[in-house]
Amino acid sequence: MKRKGVSASGRIGARPKLEHCAVSPKPRYAGSPARPLVVFCDFDGTIAEQELILQIFERFCPPGWETIARAVGERRKPVGEGIAELCGLIPSSKKDEIIAFAKGAIRFRDGFLEFLKFCRPNGLQFNVCSGGVDFFIQPILEPYTEYIDHIYSMAANLSGDRIRLQTTDSCDTCGLCKAKVMARHPGTIRILIGDGVTDVHGAREASLVFARGKLRGYLDQDGIPYQSFESFHDIIGALSRFQGKPHEDQVGC
Ligand SMILES: [Mg+2]
Ligand SMILES: [Zn+2]
Repeated sequence: MKRKGVSASGRIGARPKLEHCAVSPKPRYAGSPARPLVVFCDFDGTIAEQELILQIFERFCPPGWETIARAVGERRKPVGEGIAELCGLIPSSKKDEIIAFAKGAIRFRDGFLEFLKFCRPNGLQFNVCSGGVDFFIQPILEPYTEYIDHIYSMAANLSGDRIRLQTTDSCDTCGLCKAKVMARHPGTIRILIGDGVTDVHGAREASLVFARGKLRGYLDQDGIPYQSFESFHDIIGALSRFQGKPHEDQVGC
């Protein structure tokens, strides 16, 4: 796994010696940073191990949905436009069925609950920030709301025949632009955790980026530094050593 540390520019740069560092068994983050630490954590492919929204589209959209999904994945179609098109193929009457399906299918990434419990006592605000849709994300996260400061996602209008999305924080490509959400938290150290195309704009605004999956390739293409992760335990380990000053080399040992 490629490990990276924080450079003087406030970005995480290459730091190969971290390969040999032992992760502290117990969080020892005890810094009192000048600026609050705020986590923006993606949902599909990050909190959820799988692309739950794609499983929903597969199950509830008519044939042909894959063409739209593929165009989004290859960045040929703006992600917000693609998700709105796909939701527009689903009858609003399927809402309860979709929620039941999503609750049954969700597989939480290893260490998620531990990370939730880690954040507040260690001075981190935890926000979910998803380019997905509120009506199934919120019920899934309902058991964890005491640990979550805010859930940012796209709002669905279910009053018509088909699901329509309300995109109040959109940009040219994102249905919910994470950069715009993060801009609502000025004066903070922003930590983005994600795995896919919906995280790219947020990554540009973040002080620290934890990336897995396809996001790493997109960030490599765009020259945005990041630290790889696979489980939330990896992130707890890195943040346990982080003293709140992203311009100094403090992620790692
Ligand atoms: Mg994702
Ligand atoms: Zn955007």
